[in-house]
Amino acid sequence: MAKILIAEDEKPINDLIKLNLELVGHECAQVFDGSTALNKAYSGKYDLVLLDVMLPEISGFEIMEELKGVSVIFVTAKSNLNDKIKGLRLGADDYIVKPFEILELVERVKAVLRRTHKDSESFSFDGVEINFISKRVFKNGTEIILKPKEYALLEALVNNRNIALSREKILDLVWNFDYEGDTRTVDVHIQRLRQKLGIEDKLKTVYKTGYRLEI
Ligand code: CA
Repeated sequence: MAKILIAEDEKPINDLIKLNLELVGHECAQVFDGSTALNKAYSGKYDLVLLDVMLPEISGFEIMEELKGVSVIFVTAKSNLNDKIKGLRLGADDYIVKPFEILELVERVKAVLRRTHKDSESFSFDGVEINFISKRVFKNGTEIILKPKEYALLEALVNNRNIALSREKILDLVWNFDYEGDTRTVDVHIQRLRQKLGIEDKLKTVYKTGYRLEI
């Protein structure tokens, strides 16, 4: 997974971002002011910088003007359209407005890493190996044939691992927002994944919510 620099002066928000990106497997470093952010971002050690616009000493926009060749997602409380345009014109890869949903942040980070080819091509846990390019899945070296929705569900669970996903959120992620079916479809597919991959102990039911892949 990726190395991510979090430049955000509000410590609770910085901590929240770090906690959740680490849960899904990223390695994070935290900075709380603009000059430290600029120095660290320049080091070339990071695949992605989450950059707050309103930072002490040097603003996120000023940092962005100095930075070249580093992927950046602006994170800011300013929902102002001009700021958004300015951020993207300065070369940011994406823009997220506070307060944001953690799942949204995780997905945007994933999307930028995928676009910039910094994400991994495969992922393994518990004898299960997933190749995101070929979309083939193996258990202890033997290929397991998954139906397209079973594969999409597995990928959604892995991308959001260690986070509890509601059945409705899983429907959104795997079946898209316009799906008319009910949440029992999710239960049926979860059950099939558990059996096919032998991951009953990792793919946990979260009481009154949904499911969580614990890795
Ligand atoms: Ca700030």
